[in-house]
Amino acid sequence: MLVQQILKSKETEGVLTIRPDARVTEAIALLSERRIGSLVVSADGAAVDGILSERDIVREIGRRGPDCLAETVGQMMTRNIVTCAMSDTADEVLGMMTTGRFRHLPVIEAGRMIGLISIGDVVKARLSELAMEKDALEGMIMGH
Ligand code: AMP
Repeated sequence: MLVQQILKSKETEGVLTIRPDARVTEAIALLSERRIGSLVVSADGAAVDGILSERDIVREIGRRGPDCLAETVGQMMTRNIVTCAMSDTADEVLGMMTTGRFRHLPVIEAGRMIGLISIGDVVKARLSELAMEKDALEGMIMGH
């Protein structure tokens, strides 16, 4: 299974981004309203400047207290972002997520971000592929 197929199987298209000059409190409102765990930070909506995840926010509140909420997204985000391509396999992206200890990967094509996959998207797509394989094998064995 390829990233291309995982992206197609997602219910929502596009990637929700936030500008680096937005406040962390705006990011929290967006994360909670959309029930998601991270936001891609982008000044133009296409290039990935960074990622701000709920983990970053919790870690900084733990370290420095609630004053950090007044910062901008650009100050708190992770900058060195690992990305994937449409042609990467599900096993490759799961490996990247496991090694890097993160749950989100922007998908890049020709230098532009065309989607975002989460570990949940990969697991869901893989489970439905396994269910289809099981049905096909059962059909072959039972002869229908
Ligand atoms: P997550 O598990 O994706 O919520 O993120 C855990 C940590 O990894 C946070 O510090 C994120 O900012 C960071 N992070 C999330 N996605 C990526 C990525 N694709 N590349 C590098 N760091 C990331």
